[in-house]
Amino acid sequence: MLLRHTPNELKERTALTVNPAKTCQPIGAMYAALGIQRCLPHSHGSQGCYAYHRSTLTRHYKEPVMAATSAFTEGSSVFGGQANLLQAINNIFTVYEPDVIAVHTTCLSETIGDDIPQIIAKARDEGKIPAGRHVIHANTPRYVGSHVTGFANMVKGMVDYLAASNGHRENRINLIPGYVEPCDMEEIKRLAGELGVPIIMFPDTSKVLNGPQTGKFHMYPAGGTTVEELIEAGSSMGTVALGPLASGPAARTLDTKCKVPCEILNLPIGLRATDTFIDTLRHIAGVTVPDSINLERGRLVDVITDMHQYFYHRKVALAGDPDQLVSLTEFLVSLDMWPIHIVTGTPGKKFEARIQEITKELPHPVNVRAAGDMFLLHQWLRSDPVDLLMGNTYLKYIARDEDIPLVRFGFPILDRIGHSYFPTVGYRGGLRLLEKILDALLDRQDRDAPEESFELVM
Ligand code: SF4
Repeated sequence: MLLRHTPNELKERTALTVNPAKTCQPIGAMYAALGIQRCLPHSHGSQGCYAYHRSTLTRHYKEPVMAATSAFTEGSSVFGGQANLLQAINNIFTVYEPDVIAVHTTCLSETIGDDIPQIIAKARDEGKIPAGRHVIHANTPRYVGSHVTGFANMVKGMVDYLAASNGHRENRINLIPGYVEPCDMEEIKRLAGELGVPIIMFPDTSKVLNGPQTGKFHMYPAGGTTVEELIEAGSSMGTVALGPLASGPAARTLDTKCKVPCEILNLPIGLRATDTFIDTLRHIAGVTVPDSINLERGRLVDVITDMHQYFYHRKVALAGDPDQLVSLTEFLVSLDMWPIHIVTGTPGKKFEARIQEITKELPHPVNVRAAGDMFLLHQWLRSDPVDLLMGNTYLKYIARDEDIPLVRFGFPILDRIGHSYFPTVGYRGGLRLLEKILDALLDRQDRDAPEESFELVM
């Protein structure tokens, strides 16, 4: 019992988080920056932060994550990090030759108050940024939001610094995929391709963090959105942003800056959210849905129908990021499952209201908390147990202590593979989620079944 000290009695805590259900902003910013082709993310702070952020991404994706750091010392902690960043920009362009350096801040540089746009302007004035190369930035203090906020801020930074209108509306759509896996980005692109809709996706970490083993090291893997595409995003006829928290700020900025109208949707996880995504693309681009997509949808509906008895009224507890949890909760409710304890570490009252709206017809009370933690989730579970846990690797402690099956979903997943290769978005992604949920539930049923009811055919 690793968590044996978790008490059943609930006490409201305002200044203490125990086992957080989130990580820090710079991790999301670094992940987003890796979705630009030939981009080197740069952590403006101490080496400790940088090492933690890189290692978290490497542990999740099982891929090397290239980044640079301002390597603050005691001196820069007192007098500011301008000299370090100027030196870093010069060194990086000279030695590593990226097209873009994407600077994100850390708690330390934010607390000092380093003015990053001013430092970038100074670097440009001093000729440290070669012609045709770019330095963009996002402010990402840990004490605001979470890794999802950091992702959103860096994607917004891409628009702030690079998107530009050419005065025309080109026949293509911008797709901002949200904080999802590289394979999810690939799947979203594939669905747009099936529909015949020309797109620019940004960021795009497919082939960057789920690339093949070639036997050769590539500082900048083949994937990612090019700088040209980021500039051209300002001339697209519309933007579809997936996940209000992760993609909404960039989409709204693009609308304000370049007058590209946007639709902000939920992540296409599950049947209804994918229907909405496909229908929105169809409507904006004026295309019809091909048989190939109808076939994928029909298969998902078929499995939901065939397996409904195993989902019916199973209680679930969820921990993760708001955009994912909203769509996942809606999907589970549509399966007649009961998501009854839902926690995200990312603050935001809109999340709680949205979950309450989705679950309002469940004949069971629902606990939901934004800026909550896994300690609270564990306490809820003890007073009202569930049949299934869904969330990141850190839930395995609760799963083990309370003997509840766990489906790994979200970020980070440190002890399994598959998440970066097999999507959970779209109709095919829905099928994969159903398979994982059914495997967990039916394995448990098999394990606990008495001999006389141990079934061969389910
Ligand atoms: S929480 Fe702040 S100090 Fe800690 S790793 Fe993240 S950015 Fe660095």
